[in-house]
Amino acid sequence: MNQNNSGNSQTIYAEVILPLPLSGTYTYSIPDTLTDKCKPGMRVIVQFGRKKIYSGIIRKIHYESPEYPNIKEIQEILDYRPLINEYQFLLWDWIASYYMAHYGEVYKAAVPSGLKLESETRVFLRKQDIPETEYIPDTDEDLLIRVLQDKYAMAINEIDKLSIGQKALTVVKNLVDKGIINIEEYLREPYKPKTEKFVTFSEYINSENAMNQTLNKLKKAPRQQELLYKMIELSGWEEGNNHAVRKKDLMKAADVSESVLKSLVKKGILYLKEKETGRLEESVPVEAEQKPLADFQEKAYRQILSRFTEKETVLLHGITSSGKTEIYIKLINYYLNSGQQVLYLLPEIALTTQIILRLKDIFGDRIGVYHSKFSDAERVEIWNKISNPGTDGTTKYQIILGVRSAIFLPFHNLGLIIVDEEHENTYKQFNPAPRYHGRDAALMLARIHGAKALLGTATPAYESYFNARKGKYGLVELNQRYGDVKLPEIIRANLQNARRTKHNKTLFTPLLLDNMTEALKHNKQVILFKNRRGFSQFLQCKNCGWVPKCKFCDVSLTYHKITNQLTCHYCGYAIHVPSKCHKCDSPDIEMRGFGTERIEDDLHIHFPEARISRMDLDSTRSKKAYEKIITDFQSGAADILIGTQMVTKGLDFDNVQVVGILNADNMLNFPDFRAFERSYQLMQQVSGRAGRRDERGKVIIQTFDKNHPVIQKVLAGDYTGLYAEQMAERKLFGYPPYMRLIKITIKHPDKDTLNTAAENLKKLLIPRFGTNLLGPQYPLVTRVQNYYINDILIKIARNLALSEEKSFISQKIQEVTSQKGLKNLRIAIDVDPL
Ligand code: ADP
Ligand code: ZN
Ligand code: ZN
Repeated sequence: MNQNNSGNSQTIYAEVILPLPLSGTYTYSIPDTLTDKCKPGMRVIVQFGRKKIYSGIIRKIHYESPEYPNIKEIQEILDYRPLINEYQFLLWDWIASYYMAHYGEVYKAAVPSGLKLESETRVFLRKQDIPETEYIPDTDEDLLIRVLQDKYAMAINEIDKLSIGQKALTVVKNLVDKGIINIEEYLREPYKPKTEKFVTFSEYINSENAMNQTLNKLKKAPRQQELLYKMIELSGWEEGNNHAVRKKDLMKAADVSESVLKSLVKKGILYLKEKETGRLEESVPVEAEQKPLADFQEKAYRQILSRFTEKETVLLHGITSSGKTEIYIKLINYYLNSGQQVLYLLPEIALTTQIILRLKDIFGDRIGVYHSKFSDAERVEIWNKISNPGTDGTTKYQIILGVRSAIFLPFHNLGLIIVDEEHENTYKQFNPAPRYHGRDAALMLARIHGAKALLGTATPAYESYFNARKGKYGLVELNQRYGDVKLPEIIRANLQNARRTKHNKTLFTPLLLDNMTEALKHNKQVILFKNRRGFSQFLQCKNCGWVPKCKFCDVSLTYHKITNQLTCHYCGYAIHVPSKCHKCDSPDIEMRGFGTERIEDDLHIHFPEARISRMDLDSTRSKKAYEKIITDFQSGAADILIGTQMVTKGLDFDNVQVVGILNADNMLNFPDFRAFERSYQLMQQVSGRAGRRDERGKVIIQTFDKNHPVIQKVLAGDYTGLYAEQMAERKLFGYPPYMRLIKITIKHPDKDTLNTAAENLKKLLIPRFGTNLLGPQYPLVTRVQNYYINDILIKIARNLALSEEKSFISQKIQEVTSQKGLKNLRIAIDVDPL
């Protein structure tokens, strides 16, 4: 096309990211008409494959003509200014390469679906009358033409529903080739900004004089005059200050009809305009003063700032109730005052309720909250409010409080990232890819912005503590509780004795029961912690040992009393409770294991008066449900709270006297190299919930093995002692942080095919990794949703170039998946698995 254009004109190309699981970007040429408008970060419409069109994002613009022919053109640009900024792209680049994810997967995870475009292919007839010579009557083509004559346009998925013998797409394709129908991809933008009408004074009314003249002129129109007076009042009008007022508010206050307003608009005295307004709740800025820091907190605050002069990252290791949040608040203020943005990350929405309130008090509407339970429209608004330039007229957020996906927001000037409870494993994304760690990605984000990162926790992840000890991170420690609240007394209770003396199924030791009685008598509260792993209650035949299992997954079904059903926690499959054994027909089926529901039942027997509240996956499916449990417990509406991991999160309850850990053993015995690290973290964090204010609380750890080394360390509060022991082991056996791990999960519906594929992959990888390759092996649950699973674990020494090892792995996986007959093979890669 450039043939006639001898000389300078050079084709410009764009690298486009498509929302598909593809590695890398795709090259398109930019037509002359669009060259001035195209910028990296803008969304464009492009064709990919023969017919499909997508909205993609321009990553780069360049002049290097690609080596392959038939480069397609960009069809359209969807943005006036870039949606994605360069900082975001750098983070995407890093996540795609570090976590071995496709670029399209990162794009999908990073951009709220309200900003992505959905595509539905529609077809329509080019002309209504088609001579019979152009097609064969009484065929599928004929049928489709006749339906289209009636309907004008149809989407492919609708055509699929017509009972045409051949595949709808083939029919469509033939008719397109014959020039009878046209294809139009029609893109619809899912997010519609919410707008409202606003009223302002015309610009010529810019002085007291002009205003008085206007009012005078309206002497004969008292209603119009009245409306103007109201407008002056509501807008707080004064010279040089022309504020807009919501039309709704004005009309309500003035109590005149619409026609009055219309006349004033017609006369050019008032203006009407549409303005985007938020769906987000507008909070009144409270902007309370921050509490003054105690001396030891002030000292830590200064230490953090001084460490930041040399290090990008500081680890704040502060015991529970030392007041880390107050220190964060002071730091946030420091960075806000220097004009920079702040990101405050939390592992889960569960944690936000209390902290949101605390921070909103201080920062008012400068703070935005971002989490997974928000609707898509809300996410788009937050996105717009943090980006630069922000949506016209709206308050911009300077602080974002969010879960891991908040790292993808369009920050343009980050000064500080706080990663609170940095040890939490919920920071890691499991499925789908990209399987990134929110904390580690946040550290990269900070580096990209030249910002500082603060990791805060009472029980650092061993990786973080290791980095702090090595001097890679700065380390600041807080060993004092605010207001000298005493650390709780930690007591072991022997489950074995309890079961020997009492009936052998009791869940509670006499020691725990006595302490609970005592606490409840004084109107104090109790938290009981039950590890989520193994909290399931299942059925078993007393006669033959048969256990009802899921049809699609290799797990036993969990009993739920409320619904009287057995359900699968992996796929949701559910059946009614069987009345007899499916294997031997014996009616003697008993309950095994113990769940939070059973704890609740047993508690009612011991404490018939107590009000009991239960917090676990089943009772907290919705955000509201969770909040209600928390606020109820806080306000004293419940006496006992039973919960899984969730109760260990940084909640702050005033009135808790006793915390009971019901069975410490099943977390200690979990077959995972992090089991001890985790168990310690959990027990320590749960303990932090006891006796935060006036009285010394009690933590009662029930166990069969009271001399277990981890329990002894918890008793002594000896974090570093356990750390040292565990690190020695990890060094010896080659586990993180001494070696890196990459887990490859291979799935196939057929067991033999899976085994063959896994063995094949192993054969390809072994020459490079040798004994650093473990597996393939079946995980704890060997089949989920009809797919059998094998894991291969690869350990990579720290001194090796990680990117080379990764590209070798990718290459070999590619080789295996491209083999014939492996259509249903699925391979997932998890870098730094947890
Ligand atoms: P952490 O996050 O370290 O567990 P918090 O920041 O939640 O501790 O503080 C524990 C409690 O002590 C909170 O109720 C908090 O309001 C209170 N507190 C901490 N520091 C101060 C302070 N300087 N002034 C007043 N109250 C404080
Ligand atoms: Zn049986
Ligand atoms: Zn299942």
